[in-house]
This record gives sequence, structure tokens and C-alpha cells, in this order.
Amino acid sequence: MKWLLAVWLWVWGVVSFLPRWLLARWLEWKPRLFRRKARLFRFARVDEFPDSLESSTVYLAGEGEHLWAAAMICPCGCGEIIELNLLKQVRPCWSVKQHPDGLVSLTPSVWCQKGCRSHFFVRHGRIDWC
Ligand SMILES: [Zn+2]
Repeated sequence: MKWLLAVWLWVWGVVSFLPRWLLARWLEWKPRLFRRKARLFRFARVDEFPDSLESSTVYLAGEGEHLWAAAMICPCGCGEIIELNLLKQVRPCWSVKQHPDGLVSLTPSVWCQKGCRSHFFVRHGRIDWC
């Protein structure tokens, strides 16, 4: 009867190990899939910035061609809201390119002076880390 116990222990080992293994693989892959999907930034034209911003969106406040500010959630994942001035008269000042496919570019690079200190470019919706 010893072999039966051995088989039972082996089966139990596999059965109890498998969900943990699948969970580990899932946790490992989920952020990668999520990050790949979240990486492209689109612009959204608004009159005023909403209270809660969506990730992967650069909100552009202004009227018509005249934009005065941009806001986005930091792409590093820290959750910090980054606001950028778009008025040429005020420094520092960024310029925004709104691509016809809905993606967005920002120049120059964005550098968080406080918090996570992320430094990145937004080029055609893609985040290029510096
Ligand atoms: Zn950050």
C-alpha cells in the first residue's frame, strides 16, 4: 500500500502546485500585457481637466487651436498627475502635436521634479524613457 500513498502524494503535489504556478505566471504576464496596451498615449480635448484622469491619456485644455495646459497621469505608475503649461508666454512651456490617429507627442521631454523623478518623451503616443 506504500506505492498508493506515494502516488497520492504525487498527485496532491501536482494538484496543489498547479494553481500556484498558474497564478504566478498570470501575475508575471499580466503587467506586461497591461503595460504594452497602456503604453500608447492618446489626447483628449477638454474645457477643464476632469477630477479623475484616465491613464494613457493626455488631456488638453483650451479653445480651438489655442491650448493652454496639458495634464496626464505619470506613466511610471506612481499615480502622480503631471500638469504642463502650453502657453508660449510662460516658461517652462511644452508643445503638443495631435496626430490624426488620436495619438499625441510632447516636446520637450517631461521631467518630474518631485516624487518619482521620471524623465521621458512622449513620441507619437509612445513613452520613451530617458
Ligand atoms: Zn511617476
